[in-house]
Amino acid sequence: MTLACATLTTILNTIPHSQACPCAELKVPAGLSESEYSGKIGLAFAKTAEYRKEFDEAIASAASVISKHNGEKYLAVVSDIDETILDNRPFFEQHDEFKWDDFFAWVEQAQAPSLKKSTDLLARARKDGIAVFLITGRMEKLRKGTIRNLVRNNIAYDGLYMRPDGDKSSASEFKSGIRKQIEDMGFTVVVNIGDQFSDLEGGFAKECAKLPNKMYFIK
Ligand SMILES: [Mg+2]
Repeated sequence: MTLACATLTTILNTIPHSQACPCAELKVPAGLSESEYSGKIGLAFAKTAEYRKEFDEAIASAASVISKHNGEKYLAVVSDIDETILDNRPFFEQHDEFKWDDFFAWVEQAQAPSLKKSTDLLARARKDGIAVFLITGRMEKLRKGTIRNLVRNNIAYDGLYMRPDGDKSSASEFKSGIRKQIEDMGFTVVVNIGDQFSDLEGGFAKECAKLPNKMYFIK
């Protein structure tokens, strides 16, 4: 069973860093600010049992949502990339201070490991005939490095949508616009998976699965 956001918040009795819920109920918890996020804070959190529990629960919830739609046609799953299926913790371990040029170089190296629970879920969905669309805030200029990294980790997908170079729209505007395009093609997005609330806001998905990430906060 998928817990509604409000229920989950009550159970955790804290600011949730992971959620699974109908997208219409998704709420960015009040009081979240970028200052609560950093590579150091996030790396420490990612080594805790709480992080693993939140991650596993969100993926289990997404799997349960997918199974509810068993046998239906023209289904899709949408997934973010960074900290959702590719793990940039090795980059943050090496860089105390975030600089975009360093991150671009890391993407070109295509060495990020996969987050196996998520990639297994996407692989199972595709095996069951569900389309997998990746929507990332990574810019188009990073497409080759991104694809190399996905291929290296055997991550298959049906579409890879990247932010146009120079695009200044917010992450939620960009990503919800692409989900609208996907639904306009005739797909029903049954679940949208991401580590940022901005991956999930804006509709065009039945349910959302929020993975934990305290390394950074993207509006
Ligand atoms: Mg992400």
